[in-house]
Amino acid sequence: MTDIERVAVLGAGNMGHGITEVVALGGYDVTMRDIETDLIESGSENIEWSVGKLAENGIVDDPDDVLARIDTTTDLAEAVGDADLVVEAAPERMALKKEIYTELDELAPDEAILASNTSSLSITEIASATDRAAQVVGTHYFNPPVKMDLVEVIYGERTSDATAETAHDFVVSLGKTPIYVQKDVQGFVVNSVLGPFMVEPAWMVSNDEATIREADAAMVHRRGYPMGPFELADLTGVDIGYSVREEAGITNPPLIEEKVEAEELGRKTGKGYYDYENGETSETSQADGEAVDGDGADYEAGDGEGFDTLRVEARMVNEAAKLVGMDVATPEAIDTGMRLGAGFSEGPCRRADQEGLDTFLEKLETLHEATGEERFEPADYLVELVEGGNTGQESGRGFYEYENGEPVSGGR
Ligand code: NAD
Repeated sequence: MTDIERVAVLGAGNMGHGITEVVALGGYDVTMRDIETDLIESGSENIEWSVGKLAENGIVDDPDDVLARIDTTTDLAEAVGDADLVVEAAPERMALKKEIYTELDELAPDEAILASNTSSLSITEIASATDRAAQVVGTHYFNPPVKMDLVEVIYGERTSDATAETAHDFVVSLGKTPIYVQKDVQGFVVNSVLGPFMVEPAWMVSNDEATIREADAAMVHRRGYPMGPFELADLTGVDIGYSVREEAGITNPPLIEEKVEAEELGRKTGKGYYDYENGETSETSQADGEAVDGDGADYEAGDGEGFDTLRVEARMVNEAAKLVGMDVATPEAIDTGMRLGAGFSEGPCRRADQEGLDTFLEKLETLHEATGEERFEPADYLVELVEGGNTGQESGRGFYEYENGEPVSGGR
């Protein structure tokens, strides 16, 4: 397999321009391709602005040197003709991705690796549009790439170890942290574990078991998450998660359906679960004292008292157990992913080990029995651990194995 020297990035949008910048910052020559000149211009302006900021802050010595490594073109053949690695960051539509990969297979050098930045599509299916499935891999950067350290390196069914390792080492060379996702399951690692964090509170509100402010206040102020689930949905766009779940065949709770129907999609529409018409963030509204309507996420520390945080966390732990049990990822990869990709102060596997896996299993069993809902069905791997007496740190083994109170290794 070739060493990477020349890189092409397809797409100059949110992710494409950010990835191009990160690649140039890493010292590589890179060509950014989009379909229209004005899209390239606006992507290039964003890069110049961002590299300028990095220089102002003393992070980059010579911004011109970084910018000089970037070429742009609308011509696909010119962009990828001599590339060792192509990173595709085109819109999230399978039909479009397949068209692009068919063309890429013709135009990129035979030994080139093709890496998709998709958040939710199957790498296996994307790769099927080429005659080089072993050289197709997922490299899922997080938004904004220049700030976010994590990259998920995702295997499709036919991705070779050599391809995944080259992609992994390339990410390391950019100063980022890769985690391996060994099967291209829906949501990969970070979004799989984050799913219940976003959706379970919405079920609880839909069923009149909680309120939006209770949920957000409890998860942030009692459990230390960087944002509440509803506050986070407003930031990322209520419709984004909704469509991903619909595509994946996951039922959306009525509350989310209602928000999407009312086109109350979050900050971008001025209203979602909270009202943003004053254009302010929760930090500014809370710092100013009394929150008023229109100030954004206006929950307060004491609002979360009665909220059942264990119900939400049990589902996250269950997701993590499914991933480990299916050999999708190791506990270390999951924990690193959730810390760097979602800003969690601690990963769900390590935290569950500290609190005792039996607590989470019991919670799931109780909820499963009471509701009959499939989403509470305990993962085989979680049951196996607890039944084997491996209930976490105190027992010496849970997701991780412990020596002198420190995790030494993890996984099956
Ligand atoms: P975007 O709409 O901002 O940008 C996509 C760009 O691709 C557009 O400028 C479009 O003109 C261009 N494009 C269309 N067809 C093309 C082609 N044939 N060749 C090259 N460029 C083409 O989208 P985005 O948010 O940057 O997302 C891009 C990919 O990254 C998607 O797969 C998305 O799921 C994934 N992703 C997005 C985020 C995020 O937070 N936005 C995070 C991680 C991953």
